[in-house]
Amino acid sequence: MAEDNSIKRPRAIRIEDVIKEHVQEFIDNGKLIDKNGLAIGSGGNMSVRVLGGILITSTGSMLSDLKPDEIVFVGAANSDAVYFTGSKKPSSETITHWMIYQKNPGVKAISHVNTGPKNSKNITVSEREIPYGTKELGDDTAMLLQKADVVMMKNHGLMAIGSSLTEATRRAIDAGDKEKPYTFI
Ligand SMILES: [Zn+2]
Repeated sequence: MAEDNSIKRPRAIRIEDVIKEHVQEFIDNGKLIDKNGLAIGSGGNMSVRVLGGILITSTGSMLSDLKPDEIVFVGAANSDAVYFTGSKKPSSETITHWMIYQKNPGVKAISHVNTGPKNSKNITVSEREIPYGTKELGDDTAMLLQKADVVMMKNHGLMAIGSSLTEATRRAIDAGDKEKPYTFI
């Protein structure tokens, strides 16, 4: 049988290996957020788009000290349920991340912190406060993120997008206020 090298077969890849590939990126960016004073307790979370879903930090994890088993694969989400694999549960804000990926196909990664700048006049601020961890917050933020790379979710914190986790994190840090960040938790 003739082999046509331009037509390839996909590799079978374990989700565990996809996670392994991204773990260091999560750990490094979590530390960067902490170093810049934006990691408050277990507040904040990060995610990356992968084939068939997203990788996201687990609920209760600390961005300042992420462990490999705190990166969780989510394969589907809606306002009723979030399907995941792994021993730890995904962030309680997973559906918010999910909707941003759904509505903005170009977004590859998201960094979220529960802090914001004291003076937010240079960034987009959402008009109303929407309960955290809801699809509605995702819908609203996704819409604003179609015209901005960072959005200040009213009385909640910053949501930054990027083509990589490093880019999203850099944008969150740049929008934050090292000296005196507002904290929302
Ligand atoms: Zn939050």
